[in-house]
Amino acid sequence: MDFQEYQKKCLNTWIGGEKFIRSFLGVSGEAGELLECINKHLRGDFDREELKKRCTRELGDVLYYTAVTAHELGIDFNQIAEENLAKLAKRMAEGKIRGDGDNR
Ligand SMILES: [Mg+2]
Repeated sequence: MDFQEYQKKCLNTWIGGEKFIRSFLGVSGEAGELLECINKHLRGDFDREELKKRCTRELGDVLYYTAVTAHELGIDFNQIAEENLAKLAKRMAEGKIRGDGDNR
């Protein structure tokens, strides 16, 4: 599926107001739910297969809110993916893929 098509479908399912701030909160909240998956897996609550199922759902939720946030900021969703890949390729070419910080 194309990122822009996905983004449009996400926007069609949004309910309620405050889309700008709630989209940001949603990214953070769903990222927390993703972390809960690995926490519960490590605690022994479920096996690797169940971890995969749960993470698939939570990653989808993160993706959903990311798509809405991008829309609210007027950022083309395809552009996010393309710029991210370009950034990583540049770091790889320069031998700077390790480390931290955006300005490597
Ligand atoms: Mg969720």
